[in-house]
Amino acid sequence: MLSPSPCFRVDSPVVKRDERQAILKGLPKIELHRHLEGSLRLSTMLELGRKYDLDLPLDSPAALAKVVTFSKSEPRTLANFLTKFYSGWYRSYADIERVTREAVNDAADEGIVHLELRFSPEHLTRSNKLQPRGVMQAVCESGQATAAERSISIKFLITFARERYEYSFWKELIDVGVELEELGIAGVDLAGDEFNFPNRDYQKIFLRARDTGVLGISIHSGEGTSAEQVATAVDLLGADRIGHGLKAVDDPEVIGRLVESGVALEMCPISNFQTGCIDKLPEHPLPQLDLAGIAVTLNADDPAIHRTTINDDYDVAVTRWGYNLEDLLRLERNSISAAFISDEQRATLSERVNQGYAISQGQGL
Ligand SMILES: [Zn+2]
Repeated sequence: MLSPSPCFRVDSPVVKRDERQAILKGLPKIELHRHLEGSLRLSTMLELGRKYDLDLPLDSPAALAKVVTFSKSEPRTLANFLTKFYSGWYRSYADIERVTREAVNDAADEGIVHLELRFSPEHLTRSNKLQPRGVMQAVCESGQATAAERSISIKFLITFARERYEYSFWKELIDVGVELEELGIAGVDLAGDEFNFPNRDYQKIFLRARDTGVLGISIHSGEGTSAEQVATAVDLLGADRIGHGLKAVDDPEVIGRLVESGVALEMCPISNFQTGCIDKLPEHPLPQLDLAGIAVTLNADDPAIHRTTINDDYDVAVTRWGYNLEDLLRLERNSISAAFISDEQRATLSERVNQGYAISQGQGL
């Protein structure tokens, strides 16, 4: 464990939350780690639940919220959090398109200018007879159209759940992903229970993804397990980015390797608190890992389930870690470097972010 930084700022913020949120919302932000399945509006879930007569409490938004979102009185465990994901909402391609459009619009409303949205074709076809390829097309086409309307850029990652490994099916999804590269599929992601399903079991399929030459690799690792899981995500699975990776803080050698390799961590503090990976937000290891020189980034994960926006995670950085605009811009630049986009897109995005932050300079947080 690194010792706390001598320059770690703990000044109590003087700006009121509403004012600060307005400033944070106005910053051009990059979101590298957001799940479509964790981005459904409560009102949409209620409507689809009633339409399809799902076996859920559908009398009121509050009743439904108790089972599909996180609330303070619940146990903060990953197991509890994972119960919030239902696959019953999706019955038609129109449903898939609708939730995607809403997710992209919500991200744009939060001030996100480049979104990398991940989704699981397996989850989205689990409770219906839709085809994975059709679902992938529906997400990408509707997501691209909405992003264009909102003047933001978007890419997509295919998420695989560790518990549902099936080589031939996953390989097929990778092949379709490559075919749909033009629609914005840019990477693959491994999610789910990393305690019982370690990285080494997925080497063959991720080598296959790597061999395509066009898909970036992001691996949820070291969220609640260990620094070793972060190391194996890089060594065995060829991770370009790590989802969470907060346990890297426990091993100086792993920290050193992340610094050297430039592998970015997609960190999501509020999510980490709700899943019990940290006990208190001020204790989140992002500042320590940032100080060590790792390319850390700030993300929202599953905003609809957390009942947050990405600006709440930025708020944590400001109020709990003492981050200022310069610090936030550093994280934004890390995200730009780690995004699964072309160098030309990177340059355009970089200019947009620099301009946006320049406008906000001088505003206190
Ligand atoms: Zn995630």
